[in-house]
Amino acid sequence: MNQYDIIIIGTGAGGGTLVHALKDSGKKILVLERGTYLPREKENWDSIAVFHHDRYHTKEVWKTNDEKDFHPQTGYWVGGNTKVYGAALFRLREKNFEGVTHIDGTTPEWPLKYKDLEPYYTEAEKLFNVHGKMGEDPTEPFRSGEYPNPPVSHEPRIQELHDELKAKGYNPFRLPIGVRLKENDMLNSPCIRCDTCDGFPCMIHAKADADTNCVRPSLSDTNITLMTEVKATKLITDASGKTVTRVEAERGDEKFSFSADIVVVAAGAINSAILLLASANDMHTNGLANSSGMVGRNLMKHNNAAMLAISTKANPTKFQKTLAVNDFYWGDDEFKFPMGHVQLMGKSNKDQISPDAPFFTPGLVLEEMANHSVDWWFTGEDLPLADNRVTLKNGQIYIQYTDTNTKGFERLKNKWSDVLKDVDDVTHFIPHSLYLKKNIPLEGLAHQCGTCRFGNDPKNAVLDINCITHDVDNLYVVDGSFFPSSGAVNPSLTIIANALRVGEHLLERMK
Ligand SMILES: Cc1cc2nc3c(=O)[nH]c(=O)nc-3n(C[C@H](O)[C@H](O)[C@H](O)COP(=O)(O)OP(=O)(O)OC[C@H]3O[C@@H](n4cnc5c(N)ncnc54)[C@H](O)[C@@H]3O)c2cc1C
Ligand code: SF4
Repeated sequence: MNQYDIIIIGTGAGGGTLVHALKDSGKKILVLERGTYLPREKENWDSIAVFHHDRYHTKEVWKTNDEKDFHPQTGYWVGGNTKVYGAALFRLREKNFEGVTHIDGTTPEWPLKYKDLEPYYTEAEKLFNVHGKMGEDPTEPFRSGEYPNPPVSHEPRIQELHDELKAKGYNPFRLPIGVRLKENDMLNSPCIRCDTCDGFPCMIHAKADADTNCVRPSLSDTNITLMTEVKATKLITDASGKTVTRVEAERGDEKFSFSADIVVVAAGAINSAILLLASANDMHTNGLANSSGMVGRNLMKHNNAAMLAISTKANPTKFQKTLAVNDFYWGDDEFKFPMGHVQLMGKSNKDQISPDAPFFTPGLVLEEMANHSVDWWFTGEDLPLADNRVTLKNGQIYIQYTDTNTKGFERLKNKWSDVLKDVDDVTHFIPHSLYLKKNIPLEGLAHQCGTCRFGNDPKNAVLDINCITHDVDNLYVVDGSFFPSSGAVNPSLTIIANALRVGEHLLERMK
C-alpha cells in the first residue's frame, strides 16, 4: 500500500526535524532519503579520509555555467549535512528579518519577524542540545530564556586569547554549540571533547545532528516508514496542476511510486530546487511551483573563509570551537555597513593544512605550524541575486554563482588579522582552503540556502509564510531553501526552528 498521509523527502536539518515534529501525529508518514546511515568507522575521525579523500561527500559532478566540472562539498546521509557540520547553532539577529542595508545592496524583509520565530528557536536549542550563555554576545537577539545547557568551556590557550581580547575591549563570547557534553561529569559524558568534530562525523554519536536527535528517536513509532537509498526523482500533479498526486523515486534500477495527501520536499536548497525543476509538466512548464520564476534563483552560500593564525605561542587545544566574536557584525566606527561574524573552527592538524603550505614544506614544519596556529572561520552575508541560481539541463545540475557583497567581508578578515597581531603575537596568516575547497569556490556549498524563498507575493516568492508553494496546495519545501536572505551566522538553527514552526502548522492542517 503506497498511500500515505504525508511524504517527507530528505532527512537533514529541515526534513529530519520535521520527522521529529510530526512523530506523535498518528499520521502515516513516509520518509524518503537518498543516502544511507553514515557508517560508524575509524575513518570518521581520520583527516585524510575526511578532507583529502572526501569520504563523506557525494561523488556527483555538478557544472558551472561555463561547463567546468566540480564536486560539491555536500553529503547524502540520514541526517543530511548535519552529520558533518560543526554544530555551531546560532539565531539570526532581529534586524536580519527586517531587511539590512549593506554596502553592495539591501536584503529583503522576511514575511515573519524574529519574535515569531523566537519560541521555535528556543525549542530548537533544546532539541539539538545547544550549550551557550545568554548575555555574552552584544548582538544577541531577545531570548525568552537561558540556553538549555551551560556554555562549553575554553581550553587554556583559548581562555588566554579570550582574556587578551577582553582586555583590549572586544566582546568574545562562548559559541553556542550542539553537543551532548557533560563537563561536570566527564566520566559519563557522551562527548569527549575531541579534536575531530568540525567537518567530521562523530564516531560515538555525541554530536547533536538530525539523524541521532530527530530521525532515529522517531522511528520506534510504527506510523513512520523511513526508506533509505531512495532518491525522489519527480513529483506528478493532477490535471489541474494544483495537487501533487504522486512521488516517483528510485533505488538504483528499482522504481517506486508513492502517493500522499501532503508532500514535503526537504532535500537541501540545491536538490529541492532541482526536484521542482525536474517535475515540470504541462501546467508548470518552467518547473513545478515556479510561476514566479524564482525556483532555483537567489542561491546564497555565505561569504565564508578560513584562516590559520600562527603565533609564537603553542596551541595544544583539542576542542577549539568554543569562541566567537560579533563586534563587527554590523560594522564599526570606520565602516558603517555589516562586515560579518568570526568564530573558531575545529583545530587543524598537519594533514589538514598541508594543501595550503608551499609544496616543499617538510612534515615537521607543518606539524610546528599546526601546533602554533589558532584556526578562524569568517562568515559574511551574501546577497540574494536572481542570477545566482541552480538549473537543470538534460539531467545535469548547473550552478551559476557570482560573489556578492565582498567589501565588508574583506574588511572583516583584515580587521581580524590586525586585532590578532595586536593581542596575540601572531606572526603569519595562512588562508585555509581544505575545509572550504576555496580553489574552486563553488565546491564550498555548505551554507546553501534561498532557492525557493518564502514571501507574501506569489509573483516573486515560491513559498508562502507556511512554506506551502504558492502554486500547489499540498506541496511544501522545508529546508534551507526558504531563506529570503542569509544573515551572517551559520544557518542550521534557523532551518531547524522553521521546520518546527511548519510542523506545528502541519499538525493543525492535518487535524
Ligand atoms: C562541513 C560542514 C560544516 C558545517 N557546519 C555548520 C555549523 O557549524 N553550523 C550550522 O548551522 N551549519 C553548518 N553547516 C551547514 C548545515 O549542515 C546545513 O545548513 C544544513 O544541514 C542544511 O539543512 P537542509 O535540511 O537544508 O539540507 P541537508 O542537511 O543537506 O539535508 C538534505 C537531505 O536531503 C537528502 N536528499 C537530497 N536529495 C534527495 C532526493 N532527491 N531524494 C531523497 N533525499 C534527498 C539528502 O541526502 C539529505 O539528507 C555545515 C555544513 C558542512 C558541509
Ligand atoms: S567533540 Fe564530541 S561531539 Fe564532536 S566529534 Fe568529538 S566526541 Fe563527537
